[in-house]
Amino acid sequence: MVVINSIAKGIVIDHIRAGNGMRVLAHLNIDTSRNTVAFIMNAASKKHGRKDLIKIENITDVDLTVLGLIDHNATVNIIEDHIIAEKIKLRLPETVTDVIKCRNPRCVASSEAGISHIFRLVDEDAKEYRCEYCDDIVKAGEY
Ligand SMILES: [Zn+2]
Repeated sequence: MVVINSIAKGIVIDHIRAGNGMRVLAHLNIDTSRNTVAFIMNAASKKHGRKDLIKIENITDVDLTVLGLIDHNATVNIIEDHIIAEKIKLRLPETVTDVIKCRNPRCVASSEAGISHIFRLVDEDAKEYRCEYCDDIVKAGEY
């Protein structure tokens, strides 16, 4: 077993694409005034050259739905008693709200204020999402 000596309990999000960590952190909605968060930018990685890394202390119930969309190659480890208790495999979420923005100028979501941008997964292999309102297709990562 691998020992993560820096935190006793929490969640470690590793292998985030370098430069993407701030975005990941923003979407996780962690209360940084109450929780200890370590954010490492541009760390050396054997696998990917450079990576970002986030460690969140004492929280294990983070909503990872959006993470599956914005960086599904990231690895997520749940730490309990200094060891990895669980490795989470990220998946593309079925539905995403207000992460992908519809770019169709005639779409009600882009033309009217106060309407949520809702996209539903239509093709997991192609990573394609369809706008709930206008049926425009957007590929995950291209928004
Ligand atoms: Zn649309």
